[in-house]
Amino acid sequence: MTRVILVTGGSGLVGKGIEAYVSTVNNPNDQWIFLRSKEGDLRSKDQTRAIFEKYKPTHVIHLAAKVGGLFSNMKYKVEFFRDNIDINDNILAMCKEFNVIKCVSCLSTCIFPDKTTYPIDETMVHNGPPHPSNEGYAYAKRMIDVLNRAYNEEYGCKFTSVIPTNIYGPHDNYHLSDGHVIPGLIHKTYLAMQNNQDLTIMGTGKPLRQFIYSLDLGRLFVWALDNYEELNPLILSVGEEDEISIADVATLITEAMEFKGKLIFDTSKADGQYKKTASNLKLKSLYPELKFTPIKEAIKASCQWFVENYETARK
Ligand code: NDP
Repeated sequence: MTRVILVTGGSGLVGKGIEAYVSTVNNPNDQWIFLRSKEGDLRSKDQTRAIFEKYKPTHVIHLAAKVGGLFSNMKYKVEFFRDNIDINDNILAMCKEFNVIKCVSCLSTCIFPDKTTYPIDETMVHNGPPHPSNEGYAYAKRMIDVLNRAYNEEYGCKFTSVIPTNIYGPHDNYHLSDGHVIPGLIHKTYLAMQNNQDLTIMGTGKPLRQFIYSLDLGRLFVWALDNYEELNPLILSVGEEDEISIADVATLITEAMEFKGKLIFDTSKADGQYKKTASNLKLKSLYPELKFTPIKEAIKASCQWFVENYETARK
């Protein structure tokens, strides 16, 4: 069967990861469309419908979202809620209207309850309020899971979702204050090298995180589209044993970039949560042969991409 697979948010970090993976597979039965916002604002139902009318997708990977760092999440809760609610509502409504066979939407581990036990697993999404700093974004994302079940019960639609942990890779947002930790540190290291300065890292460097490389995630999205049959979400993450401290991540980045200065930890700055461990046991039970790119190799590739694309990278 020929499939037309529409990827919303196709120009972003994850979309580019899927595109890179798909280019290595080259399946003649699959036609991939990677959408960017220039083709239409998905907050608008009319513009979203026009996109579905144009491409007539049989399958959808829904990534598009208003995303941002801690500061903008705290300042613009209304916009994070409304933009994401509108985008998600429009996409799922069009998937139903155009009889899309399967839709895989992207959630995030930061939507889990703030007060929880670890490791976090897929059953816990709605167990308590998210952290107040990102409640606009988190509640809008959680509603995808609610709608996936509702569309299935009422209309028989096959809509599901996946939950990645912290993502990094080429085409990331390398903004110094509003990006995520890995791209932010890569950019800071680059500037420290340009200016012959030491590298200052916010906090103690002790917090632990699970990071997933965007190209590994690209492969996992395609696997989920082909193989994941449940409506309930699936966490896409490296294992609990692969949690790594921010200090170790900084060391990998400075080694990859051959930075020769000192690493200074500014312990007057907040650390955030010490850890947010997520379980990937469900993923491993469904995809036992899964292997992740070693983080050293993936960080090196991400640093290299930033240096080579410095002028045009988002920053
Ligand atoms: P990016 O910021 O890199 O990309 C966002 C994408 O969404 C872009 O393609 C952008 O289009 C598109 N987009 C945003 N608003 C609109 C709109 N109104 N209409 C149409 N398109 C729009 O994000 P990521 O790739 O990092 O994130 C992809 C998904 O992964 C999101 O759902 C996010 O919540 C989730 N996620 C991300 C994590 C991370 O660490 N980055 C962690 C966990 C989950 P354009 O660029 O053309 O404007």
